[in-house]
Amino acid sequence: MTVSYDTLLARITDPDGRAIPDPATGEVVGRVRFRPVADLDAAIARARAAQPAWAARGDEERVDLLLRAADAVEAATEPLAELLSREQGKPLNGPNARFEVGACVSWLRATAATPLPGETVVDDETAHAELRYRPLGVVGAIGPWNWPMMITIWQIAPALRMGNTAVVKPSEYTPLSVLALIEVLNHVLPQDILHAVAGAGELGARLAAHPGIDKLMFTGSTRTGQAVIRSSADTVKRLTLELGGNDAGIVLPDVDPKAIAHDLFWGAFINTGQTCAAMKRLYVHDDVYDDVCTALVQVASAMPMGRGLHEANVLGPLQNRQQFDIVARLVEAARAAGATVLTGGDPDRDAPGNFYPLTLVADVDNDNPLVTEEQFGPALPIIRYHEVEQAIAMANALDVGLGASVWSEDKAAARAVAERLEAGTVWINSHGGVHPMIPFGGVKKSGYGLEFGVEGLKSVAAPQVING
Ligand code: NDP
Repeated sequence: MTVSYDTLLARITDPDGRAIPDPATGEVVGRVRFRPVADLDAAIARARAAQPAWAARGDEERVDLLLRAADAVEAATEPLAELLSREQGKPLNGPNARFEVGACVSWLRATAATPLPGETVVDDETAHAELRYRPLGVVGAIGPWNWPMMITIWQIAPALRMGNTAVVKPSEYTPLSVLALIEVLNHVLPQDILHAVAGAGELGARLAAHPGIDKLMFTGSTRTGQAVIRSSADTVKRLTLELGGNDAGIVLPDVDPKAIAHDLFWGAFINTGQTCAAMKRLYVHDDVYDDVCTALVQVASAMPMGRGLHEANVLGPLQNRQQFDIVARLVEAARAAGATVLTGGDPDRDAPGNFYPLTLVADVDNDNPLVTEEQFGPALPIIRYHEVEQAIAMANALDVGLGASVWSEDKAAARAVAERLEAGTVWINSHGGVHPMIPFGGVKKSGYGLEFGVEGLKSVAAPQVING
């Protein structure tokens, strides 16, 4: 689908809708009609009615349609990336808007390429039992504002592949990006298998409680995840909850600080820190503490931040003022407690946009709010430790566990630490990278359920045993 930015925007905007601001400038990007609950109910009814025919098409045809959907998104990369950049704030370049649209394409293709065949689980004189996977029905998806397109694809591609239909409720902060993506997908997909209903205030809870939704995929805060569990209880709805975290990175004493500084930086600051599995607290051994701090300041000073549409930038504004205020409050809490702000920490509040400067905070105590609360923005606390045992204990002390990382030239030593960290994924010498074939999910209050690969397909399927 070759489409211009203006044409795509015109298809999803409503002149009477709610103005969606550009977080870099405050200008209106477009207008979206926030729809009432009755519209959500109608979309669910249509998705339910369309589901049996979608399942009946068979796996081969669904694979073909997902591949065609991937081609359509790829062909629309530039207008989609521009809209994402304007609405979310992330730059076109770096691991940002074009990268995100590219990830949508990769995940669609990888999901299409991953079969989930049934299997014979017992076949002997006692029994013959086969485990097979059927569609669940209609899958609901509630996504966040940080990676709005990519996370929507993560939620819906496996659902569609398995023969479910889907209803998406985008974040109120980034509805345009999701509506545009779904507009492109629906150019290829059959009618009514994929719906998006934008709104705010009551749609999310309705989707979670709705008897016509068989499974809900939710990515967002732990607090709202807890509300999702409550809202979904009466229907005993299946859930996948990706609730963010407060990922620790542990730097062992044998590293070369300059060699790892670039990867440490992006592990923490990808998407200007607004990433669920970004590194949000960094534990560095006393032997290399000062050198790691110096190397990180050097990398940070070379990273251009500004309006996303300017090709040179690789960091953007915070997506919304609420998030800006959270980051500012946490950095102030660290400063008030005597921590050293190595760089950043002084936003220009009178300038347009939600820009918060890259901020590195040293000499910060492990119980400071900048460490214990999720900042979800460009401010990294760096905590000194003396014994590895102490670093492991500090990393595991919080009640969330999405990701973690260990940095060392000794892979075996890093692995020994990794095995003791309470996190769904532990990276060694990198942080936050995801792959469509590698399962991803959290422990503790970071949620439950796995996404991606075969495990992701299983999570949107109804297992059935045929015994006999
Ligand atoms: P929330 O986590 O509060 O989620 C908001 C979404 O949840 C909206 O779509 C809302 O729909 C829906 N919702 C609200 N109540 C329910 C319910 N009972 N059942 C189902 N859905 C419901 O996101 P925020 O944007 O407010 O972000 C808050 C914090 O979350 C951030 O500061 C950040 O720390 C974290 N976050 C984590 C992300 C991650 O990747 N894990 C991504 C983004 C943010 P409605 O408006 O209709 O009520």
